[in-house]
Amino acid sequence: MTSELRIQLDKLYATFDHSFIYSDPIQLVKRFDDSQDQEIVALVVTSLAFGQVQQIIKAGELAIELMNHSPRRFVDTMEPEVEIKKWRGFYYRMIKHTDLLRLLYALKKILNQVGSIGNWVSSQYQQEDAHLGVTWAKCVDEIRKIDLENWKWKRSKGIGFNHLLPNPIKKSACKRANLLLRWMVRKDQIDLGLWDKLPASKLIIPVDTHIQRIAYNIGLTNRTDLSWKTAIEITDKLRQLDPNDPVKYDFALCRLGILNMCPKKRDMNKCNSCPIFDICRL
Ligand code: SF4
Repeated sequence: MTSELRIQLDKLYATFDHSFIYSDPIQLVKRFDDSQDQEIVALVVTSLAFGQVQQIIKAGELAIELMNHSPRRFVDTMEPEVEIKKWRGFYYRMIKHTDLLRLLYALKKILNQVGSIGNWVSSQYQQEDAHLGVTWAKCVDEIRKIDLENWKWKRSKGIGFNHLLPNPIKKSACKRANLLLRWMVRKDQIDLGLWDKLPASKLIIPVDTHIQRIAYNIGLTNRTDLSWKTAIEITDKLRQLDPNDPVKYDFALCRLGILNMCPKKRDMNKCNSCPIFDICRL
């Protein structure tokens, strides 16, 4: 079964190559050439990566515009009392302009110390971290601590700032954190591989409704919830195919859902042309 699964998933991976980047928020990161800009855009965009893809891209584009299309320079020089008026029009679902500015201001303090987000995340990693979710949980704790110590401007009410920073320790699937790590740690034509001090072998698949459903269809999990346990179960199965790169197939699997190619009930008009039809048990 493992070899058949690998053959089918490799077919899917070859089908949904970099020419499909247009259908994914990672396109916003790829609009920049400088790695310092790329990692800031990646953090902002993955923090907003809930809801429909087109809405995420729109919110990310607005944030980039508000950062004057120069994210690293913006973060290095930003002063909240100046920016807060300019950013007032930013709102995405429960995320307010102040939530995003608090994140960027904490980032400014971190970048002053260590130079890049990649250096900072790598400094939190320890060999004994079972997966990079553990590493990211330490990063989230540090951002919260820096925010408490440094953000002197009026704190926004509501759950926006907390929602920006999912913590794997809290048992949710933490899709957005795992997505950021996938983009930055893995390297192929889609993922950037900028944080190369971190092991791709310890990535966890970013589970959303598309991934959970398709993973269930092809027997990578029997779970039906969007939990951390589901993410671990799917990743463990995929690790059997490639221990060094367990989340290799995430982008391709997700295309079936994002591009509305995978129906909730079997529909031969769509399923006939599905690259993983032979292993689907729907
Ligand atoms: S065969 Fe159909 S239901 Fe199964 S994964 Fe493909 S598109 Fe989805």
